Amino acid sequence: MADVVLSGLTKSYGTTRALTDMTMTIEDGSFVVLLGPTGAGKTTTLRLIAGLDRPDQGDIRIEGRSVLSDTPAQRDVAMVFQQYSLYPHLTVRENLAFPLRSPVLNWSEPDIARKIGEVAEVLRISHKLDNKATQLSGGEMQRVSIGRALVRSPRIYLMDEPLSSLDAKLRADLRIELKRIHAELGATFLYVTHDQIEAMTMASHVGVLDQGRLVQFGTPRDIYENP
Ligand code: ADP
Ligand code: ADP
Repeated sequence: MADVVLSGLTKSYGTTRALTDMTMTIEDGSFVVLLGPTGAGKTTTLRLIAGLDRPDQGDIRIEGRSVLSDTPAQRDVAMVFQQYSLYPHLTVRENLAFPLRSPVLNWSEPDIARKIGEVAEVLRISHKLDNKATQLSGGEMQRVSIGRALVRSPRIYLMDEPLSSLDAKLRADLRIELKRIHAELGATFLYVTHDQIEAMTMASHVGVLDQGRLVQFGTPRDIYENP
C-alpha cells in the first residue's frame, strides 16, 4: 500500500517556522487537498515529501518505509508545479519524452513512443503532439506539464497549485479532468491550493493548514459542515 504517512514534521527556514508537528496519513489512491492561505506551509509539505528539503524533525514513510535518506529520484513521487516548466522550443512529444530519455532509465524509443501515446490520450492532447510548446493554449500547456509527471508512472503525484495561472473557465474544465485522470490512474494525489472550490470539488479528503499547523482533516463534507 502506497500510503504516505507524515509524522511530527517540523521545518524552519532561518527564523521562520514553516511547519509545526504536521501529522497526516495520505491513503493509497486518495485525492488529498491541502488547503490554506499563503504562508500556511503547503508548499513546504510537498517539498519535504518530494525530498527537495529535509525536515528538522519528524518522519515521512511511503509504503511503510522511511524515505528521509532517499534522494528525490528514489522516491516514487512526481511533482507538478504552478508554472508550466516546459521547454518552449521543443514539441509536445519531445517535452513528454524528456523525462524518459534519462540514461539511468534506459527506455527504448518504441517504449517511449508507446508511453507518450498513452499519456497524450489520457490528457486529450494527442492532436497536439507535433506542436511546439509555444503554440499551445494555457490549458494545453498545463496538461503537458502534468503529462511530464505522468510518463514516469509514479504512484504519488504532488501538485502545487497547478491550475492557479489559468482563467476561471479552464480551471473549471481541468478540475473535472484531474478528477477523471486520478480515477483512471488509481494513483495517490496530494494537491495544494488556497482555492476552497478546488478543495471541495476534487478532494476525497481535505487537510486545512494554518500557520504551519494542520488544523482540520476530513472529507469535504466534514470540512464544509464544521468550518
Ligand atoms: P504556502 O505554500 O502555504 O504558501 P510555504 O510552505 O511556501 O507556504 O511557506 C511557509 C512559510 O515558510 C512562509 O512563511 C514562507 O515565507 C516560509 N518559507 C518557505 N520556504 C522558505 C525558504 N526557502 N526560505 C525562507 N522562508 C521560507
Ligand atoms: P506558493 O505560491 O505555493 O505560496 P511560494 O511562493 O511560497 O509558493 O514559494 C515558492 C518557492 O519559494 C518555494 O520553493 C519556497 O520554498 C520558496 N520560498 C517561499 N517563501 C520564501 C521566502 N520567504 N524566502 C525564500 N524562499 C521562499
